[in-house]
Amino acid sequence: MHKDDLVVVTGAGGFIGGHLVGYLQRTLGHGRLRAVDCKPLDEWYQIHPGVDCLSLDLSLRENAYRASRSARVVYNLAADMGGMGFIETHKAECMLSVLINTHMLLAAKDCGVERFFFASSACVYAADKQTDANVTALQEADAYPAMPEDGYGWEKLFSERMCRHFREDYGLKTRIGRYHNVYGPHGTYDGGREKAPAAMCRKVIEAKLSGRNEIEIWGDGEQTRSFMYIDDCLVGTTRLASSDINEPLNIGSDELVSINQLVDIVEKIAGVKLVRRYNLGAPKGVRGRNSDNTLIQQVLGWAPSVRLQDGMEKTYRWIYDEIVSGRESRANRAPRLAAAG
Ligand code: NAD
Repeated sequence: MHKDDLVVVTGAGGFIGGHLVGYLQRTLGHGRLRAVDCKPLDEWYQIHPGVDCLSLDLSLRENAYRASRSARVVYNLAADMGGMGFIETHKAECMLSVLINTHMLLAAKDCGVERFFFASSACVYAADKQTDANVTALQEADAYPAMPEDGYGWEKLFSERMCRHFREDYGLKTRIGRYHNVYGPHGTYDGGREKAPAAMCRKVIEAKLSGRNEIEIWGDGEQTRSFMYIDDCLVGTTRLASSDINEPLNIGSDELVSINQLVDIVEKIAGVKLVRRYNLGAPKGVRGRNSDNTLIQQVLGWAPSVRLQDGMEKTYRWIYDEIVSGRESRANRAPRLAAAG
């Protein structure tokens, strides 16, 4: 990839896309970037000066073509998604992301795009391989025979397949990263779409600030996961995109923890010990999931390595500042509004 090629990032108003634009610009030195998201610009998590930012709904064909015009490389991250609380209750909405992926692939083919990265997910893996908390880490081949997460996972698996056939039939160099739980600053931490690491930080911060001293945990807390810090996600994504690897690849940490252990980490960072209330009826996803990183090590000579403790410290500090500054600005606004009548 040349530094003056036009690179498009979709979903750039969101968590990973916002970081990716900054990384391509500042770390990899790309000078021509187009960032696209359906949200109005004032709702984007990050805006980077010097980047062409477009607010477009990419589920519409003409917008996908507008986004892809003159592009050499497309990172397609736009999707309707969230944590377990969202994807278990919005299956149809998650599946409608197939419109984004279909139109972006068609536009990429017709606009002469050379490389197309697709952000897939560990939710493509077959449910019967994730029934034990003491899980065997998932290898790329474990996605078949197919029985992915209902709704969101089926859409991702279908779109992976579409990427494969666009490569075989039209020569578009599609690259597929299967992200395993990504976390870090500038992500969603409230509102219903947040994922476990951000949700735990928020809950611990709220318990600490309010003095309530207790926390609700979804499930019995013994379900296991691995969590990848955003910096690792950016390295894996850009390395895979510029590689010659045609098959889907895990991009995830292999540091397996239970949700209870994740809470231990956040409590330690916050310097508190909370009473845990387990909500057994809440959405909890599969029992255990981890990333097998044998293949990524083999083909990229690299794998995610940021320790959970280190990544969570940065994430906690960012969410803490956001919550406290949000409270302060609300408190400052109230007297002004009262004064204004
Ligand atoms: P995010 O929700 O923060 O970002 C996705 C962005 O896509 C949002 O800003 C949203 O407004 C935008 N979008 C949705 N519909 C759109 C449309 N029709 N047109 C244009 N933009 C649209 O999510 P994220 O965590 O940054 O995830 C990025 C990608 O990575 C997604 O494809 C997601 O499925 C995938 N992924 C993320 C994780 C994770 O842990 N965060 C794990 C696996 C896969």
